[in-house]
Amino acid sequence: MLTKGIAAKPLILGFVLMVLPALAKAQEVQPHTFWDKANTIGFAVSGAAKIVDWVQTYQSLEHGSHEKWMFTNSRLGLLGIGLGGQALQTGIAYGLHRREHHKLERVLPYIVSLGNVVGIAYSYRHRN
Ligand SMILES: [Zn+2]
Repeated sequence: MLTKGIAAKPLILGFVLMVLPALAKAQEVQPHTFWDKANTIGFAVSGAAKIVDWVQTYQSLEHGSHEKWMFTNSRLGLLGIGLGGQALQTGIAYGLHRREHHKLERVLPYIVSLGNVVGIAYSYRHRN
């Protein structure tokens, strides 16, 4: 039990340490094309966090656990929520980009991913 808590904290800390440089770079954002390297990395990070969160939730559901933070325990429903969330996040980021709010555009994927990372750490800590 104690080792699970210890393992979850580096996951969250590692994510925060990964986000901080992105936040610092967000202060220097110049006009750019939407699908540039920084956005590609940001969306890859948020997509990966969603995938890991979904796989972990899927495995937990297979072993009799219940999703506590969503309104459904359906595996396909949760997948749809994840994919829809990614599409919504991309649309919001594109809207921010078009309105020249590039700093918000840059940090959005990391802010959204924090929810997944906390969910992953929580599930890992409370797994059976
Ligand atoms: Zn932009």
